Amino acid sequence: MTLLAIEGLHTTYRSGTRLVHAVDGVSLEVGERETVGLVGESGCGKSTLGKTIMRLLDPSRGSIRLDGTEIADLDDRSMRSHRRKMQMVFQDPFASLNPRQTVFRLLDTPLKVHGVTDAQERRRRVVDMAGRVGLAPDALERYPHEFSGGQRQRIGIARALILSPRLVVCDEPVSALDLSIQAQILNLLVDLKRDLGLAYLFISHDLSVVRYFVDRVLVMYLGKIVESADHVSLWRDPKHPYTRALLAAVPSRDPARKASASLKGEISTAVQPGGCRFRGRCPLAMERCATEEPQLRRTSDSQMVACHLA
Ligand code: SF4
Ligand code: MG
Repeated sequence: MTLLAIEGLHTTYRSGTRLVHAVDGVSLEVGERETVGLVGESGCGKSTLGKTIMRLLDPSRGSIRLDGTEIADLDDRSMRSHRRKMQMVFQDPFASLNPRQTVFRLLDTPLKVHGVTDAQERRRRVVDMAGRVGLAPDALERYPHEFSGGQRQRIGIARALILSPRLVVCDEPVSALDLSIQAQILNLLVDLKRDLGLAYLFISHDLSVVRYFVDRVLVMYLGKIVESADHVSLWRDPKHPYTRALLAAVPSRDPARKASASLKGEISTAVQPGGCRFRGRCPLAMERCATEEPQLRRTSDSQMVACHLA
């Protein structure tokens, strides 16, 4: 069953005198209980896409269907009843947690706002959620600044899950954490997904982070999806030159592989009109790539690629 279906989504914003097409015609689906990884370098539009799906940013056009309902053009009021189905975990939990509220209040408030009037029932749910994310019982009366980064992310996750959403957009949830803590938080997310039947759209610039637990991967470059594949195909047979470059950049213990290829040049928000937007950095670019934009085309049951060579 499809939980989230995006079609032809565009998000445009103004930067000085320029119009930035941060999300430039993206279509994707996330199924019930599915984990979809969204990867690409920073600046490729992943976070903007995540925030647009959450309706924290307004799309300039396109469709966002959540559980069968079109939400792309809903106003704030009408969005409210849909918000509980879909929540977000941010990279920096501290910035998203009100420093003047205890953990209890941080978790209790959304329940109140969404109409859980029975205070005892709210407390029961808050205590249950704190336990699920691995917070000690005394954590509830403390403030966010009293916790370490990893503990704060547990609080951020608890707050995202307290309303029992079905889809969670995770935007680089571990990239601000130490490596040893990253694994703990990733394991926690995997356990919660299994126990609560969640679907994730998991945003990361780091393919090695998504490698072990996503069902499918979408690779994004300058506002567009350039490859979509189930995770086995992506690692076994990446087709887009950008995907290959990202994979080659994943730290490897094999020194030969490490030296072989790295991504040259910088991602640029200034898209040259026409042609493939990766061509300035693509080792395989041909004449055609400068004039004709490659469309996302199916190359197998499980893979789609936007490259003239695929
Ligand atoms: Fe490279 Fe051309 Fe393929 Fe773009 S379309 S990725 S420039 S080969
Ligand atoms: Mg980002």
